[in-house]
Amino acid sequence: MAEKTTETDTQTAKTALMSRRSMMKGVAIVGLAAAALPTMAENAATQASGSVPPIKDPRAKFPNDQPTQAQAWPGLQRDMTPRPDCGETSYRGTGRLAGRRALVTGGDSGIGRAVSIAYAREGADVAINYLPQEEDDAAEVIGLIHREGRKAIAIPGDLRAEAFCRSLVARTERELGGLDILVNNAGYGWFLPDILEHPSEKFDQTIKTNLYAPFWLSKAAIAVMKPGSVIVFTSSVTAFSPSDAFLGYSATKAAIVAFTSALAKQVAKRGIRVNGVAPGPFWTPMQVYFGAPDDNVSSLNASTPLGRIGQPVELAPLYVILAEDASSYVTGSTWSADGGRL
Ligand code: NAD
Ligand code: MG
Repeated sequence: MAEKTTETDTQTAKTALMSRRSMMKGVAIVGLAAAALPTMAENAATQASGSVPPIKDPRAKFPNDQPTQAQAWPGLQRDMTPRPDCGETSYRGTGRLAGRRALVTGGDSGIGRAVSIAYAREGADVAINYLPQEEDDAAEVIGLIHREGRKAIAIPGDLRAEAFCRSLVARTERELGGLDILVNNAGYGWFLPDILEHPSEKFDQTIKTNLYAPFWLSKAAIAVMKPGSVIVFTSSVTAFSPSDAFLGYSATKAAIVAFTSALAKQVAKRGIRVNGVAPGPFWTPMQVYFGAPDDNVSSLNASTPLGRIGQPVELAPLYVILAEDASSYVTGSTWSADGGRL
């Protein structure tokens, strides 16, 4: 998603935003440092065996020259050029989520796909939800999870219906034998820079997908979760630096930060942790369906301090660490990964 700060902020709002940004940065640094730990352990093992992987420059690790392209919503990452990197060939697990049972919404593509692959490689059984039009992307993810020897369940359906959300959790719990991790990741947004041309239907779809669905899913999940379980939300840096072109979307992503914090306080007494991830711009189907101008992705690449938008695989470590026992004192937080953009 594009993050374009409005020019009309008052000085007071700017000051408030700056202090919130600094807060988020601090949290993000702690989060990423912690997420890097297993890689360091792996590196130590590799060094002991004599082959040291080359250190990589984060600016050059992934492309920043995606050709202009557009698809109809909800889009298929199978048809993107280049295809997003969701860790299909690169993510290496070390058993950090062995035996866990996870439900990931939007698990077919983009960020949710990277999370599903990483969770399976860390030893979890995974159910994914997606829209029926996304069956081709979902089938690939199911195949990748099976390849890890983990259970994979495909549950297509529209999250805008409360009854479906309840049945999604019930089916996951029944077929995986329990539910330890819920990742509320599915989301919807549309590029609409003028409120006068913002259809109520798009506003409604944004709120239903981004807020009602996580509310219904969390409610159903918490009723069956045991102490030690976790919920992870996908917010966005638009929560902290709202974009004028994503009015309703930015509002829902800010609401998710508050929802995460409030829910964490509520369910701490049940031993359940609740956290969120706030991505910056990432190369996913969302970038090609949401109706942005042709130069949107190239300007995102150019305006990000690291010089490129992110790839979903670069977010997976945050979702892993928030879900694992090692982060048992982390709850109510939202961690950011945005290439330095916020
Ligand atoms: P994506 O298109 O790959 O994933 C979004 C998924 O949401 C879709 O695959 C679809 O399965 C699901 N979805 C949407 N509406 C649905 C509905 N009504 N019912 C069921 N499923 C539905 O794109 P992504 O970028 O990976 O998005 C994942 C999350 O990351 C979203 O919440 C998005 O807002 C957030 N995010 C993305 C970016 C970015 O730059 N790509 C930045 C910040 C936050
Ligand atoms: Mg998809």
